[in-house]
Amino acid sequence: MYYRSLNAYLRETFGCKVYKLALSAGCTCPNRDGTLGTRGCIFCSGSGEFAAPAVLPIAEQIVQAKRLVAAKARQDARFIAYFQDYTNTYAPTDTLKPLFTSAIDWPEVCALSIATRPDCLPQEILSLLSELR
Ligand code: SF4
Repeated sequence: MYYRSLNAYLRETFGCKVYKLALSAGCTCPNRDGTLGTRGCIFCSGSGEFAAPAVLPIAEQIVQAKRLVAAKARQDARFIAYFQDYTNTYAPTDTLKPLFTSAIDWPEVCALSIATRPDCLPQEILSLLSELR
């Protein structure tokens, strides 16, 4: 079976390796806030191991995350803005839109990646993602 990885696609499209910048939208998740449970999934620390603290503005998170990959990234590297920790669509669109917009408002950011779960993708979130695309 032929498998074409996202890494390969991004290399072909942008002509260089594309690195993930781990960010945090400051959300929780239904398995942790008591909606469905409080203990979280067994495999999940929830912390978003590499994400910058959610209290920081997204621009500062991006700067910090770029520092983490600076040693291996070329000067002209491109990046994926990756909202990593918890469920990053588990908030109102008015809260999420400025965060996501701020994350993609960098010329070197070529993709937006958002960790979430299917029961946290209501139509208004899908519309927001469609708009951002
Ligand atoms: S963030 Fe996702 S993986 Fe972690 S506890 Fe919540 S639902 Fe489970």
